[in-house]
Amino acid sequence: MLALLLLAVLIPTLCVVWFMSQAVGNERFAVRQRLIDAYQSQLEPLRARLQAEWQDRLTVLAGDPAAATTPGASGAAREFERLVRTGHWDSAIVRDPSGIPLYPAPVDIAMPDVVPFAAEDELWAIARQLEADVGDYGAAAETYADIAGRAANPQTTARALQAQVRCLLILGDRAAARAILRERLLTEPYRDTTDEAGRSIAASAAFLLLELSDTAPADPARQRANSLLHEILTDYQRTVVPSAQRLFLMEQLRATSPSEPEFPTFAAERLAASYISARSPTAVKPGLARTALPGIWSAVPPQGGSIGLIEEQRIRSDAAGLLAAAGMPAGATVELRPIDRTQPSQALVVLPVGEPLAEWELAVTLTGRDPFSTAADRRIATHIWLGVLVILTTCLIAAAVARYMGRQVRLTRLKNDLIATVSHELKTPLASIRALVDTLLERDGSNPRQSREYLELIARENARLSRLIDNFLTFSRMERNRHAFELTPCPPDRIVEAACASVRERFETAGCRFFVEVAPGLPDVVIDADAMITVLLNLLDNACKYTGQDKCVSLRAYAAQDDVCFEVRDNGIGLSRRAMRRIFDRFYQVDQSLSRRAGGCGLGLSIVQFIVHAHGGAIDVQSQPGRGSTFTVKLPAVRAAAGEVTA
Ligand code: ADP
Repeated sequence: MLALLLLAVLIPTLCVVWFMSQAVGNERFAVRQRLIDAYQSQLEPLRARLQAEWQDRLTVLAGDPAAATTPGASGAAREFERLVRTGHWDSAIVRDPSGIPLYPAPVDIAMPDVVPFAAEDELWAIARQLEADVGDYGAAAETYADIAGRAANPQTTARALQAQVRCLLILGDRAAARAILRERLLTEPYRDTTDEAGRSIAASAAFLLLELSDTAPADPARQRANSLLHEILTDYQRTVVPSAQRLFLMEQLRATSPSEPEFPTFAAERLAASYISARSPTAVKPGLARTALPGIWSAVPPQGGSIGLIEEQRIRSDAAGLLAAAGMPAGATVELRPIDRTQPSQALVVLPVGEPLAEWELAVTLTGRDPFSTAADRRIATHIWLGVLVILTTCLIAAAVARYMGRQVRLTRLKNDLIATVSHELKTPLASIRALVDTLLERDGSNPRQSREYLELIARENARLSRLIDNFLTFSRMERNRHAFELTPCPPDRIVEAACASVRERFETAGCRFFVEVAPGLPDVVIDADAMITVLLNLLDNACKYTGQDKCVSLRAYAAQDDVCFEVRDNGIGLSRRAMRRIFDRFYQVDQSLSRRAGGCGLGLSIVQFIVHAHGGAIDVQSQPGRGSTFTVKLPAVRAAAGEVTA
């Protein structure tokens, strides 16, 4: 039965718990899905805008190839400056339509407008021989001066003067060298001249003059050299300065005069140079791609063109502005980030941007509590409360059913016990009475003494029957809670006397020594006299029944504090501790066969306890197996007005 009830509770509980966990899981999944859909629909237009923006940036890179290549390398430098100045790129590699880098170039490109040596060729040969083979620097310097004097174009003149300065410096004539630099090479006619390697002679001359001047920075010549050098280095339009020379000079100037303002293209030049030295810029795939430089991305338009270089951080921060303007729901951040295939994403929604940002994705990450998950939590809480309610209700119903069924089981058992006991207990005295009556009828009064003896036996069995029936009736009233007691103040000795009168004859017949002692001056007790006599009769009856051949029973009444005690003591078989705990239970008998033989039905002590408790009293038993038992009934000695208690 208990197992069934447990199952009845457990199965629905498990079902509810399973349903709850499923519901919670589904709810979370559904909310997450809704969240993903919502964010994804917001990401789509962002992706489109990013793609459009980056297409525009790439279009800028496509530029005008014709402009980049004409005239010569200066066009490429102009294009480089233009790309850097657009602000879209941190740096750029300007390439020709076939993908050959023009600016910055790994190998500086020879000037297409270099004037070939003509009449001076012979003199150049002599001067070079004097300088390189003979080591006559004085003669070489003079010859270079001669060439410079004769030369028809500034280019040749500038190269000759540069060579003359070189020889003069070897000779240690710094003053003469400085004079040439200051008065000739730094003047306007030579502003755009280049040496054989394509380097700007004016820039080299200005830098050399700065190095040679040990005068104060306020020196006008030095100042002029400085400003000319700055002008050349920042000028991408007119003067042709190869990137390597430009970067070198920029770095030198930064080192010598750190207080000077930064060259606007210095970072771009340096980045481009690093990129070129790190990998060949010819084979770059279209779109945005990682470079060999850490944190640097390259970009090439699909139709080919220049390479844009940009820092990863810049891509992110440029996109951050656009994404912030788009506005995301509170509790979520969206970012543009490179796709990382090495580890799983923590983001809620990830949307690859696609060309030209093929290696990039838009990622939405939850930062705090969003409205959707709050709603999900509310539903989950409802599910949980509902589940708890169902479980509680099931438990309550199960408890009520268990209680009801337990009661029913007890009642059924009680009824069965009652029927068994009643039929058995009534049968025995009735059978004896019938046998005695039959015998009497047969003998027909021939033996008056024996007839009297039989009649006395019949009377005793009759009395026993009456006691049994009285007990059954009391028990039945008790069970229906319908026992009404007529409580009246009564002197204890009157109860004792009545009980003694009832048992005296029986005790004598059974050969029982019986002592009665009532303390003098006992206060009255408020009792239902008949009920209390039943109590004493039951106790005296048991004392006589559960005692051996040598029966000795005493009944005492005495005062103890505010109580009056009735004590029934015997020298009988006694009770074990276990039995003492159970003797007041209905139908309990320590030794059933003995009790039955003695004419008991296991109801006497439960009736006693019921009556005593209904009087506000208590019953106590002291006993030891084989040494007899003492039952003490304590009743409050209250001289109160009579009342009626319905128990
Ligand atoms: P019963 O009608 O069987 O005597 P009771 O309720 O009066 O039923 O007693 C319950 C049981 O307690 C008895 O069956 C008996 O075993 C035990 N009992 C009662 N009184 C005594 C006693 N004075 N000495 C020993 N055993 C007793």
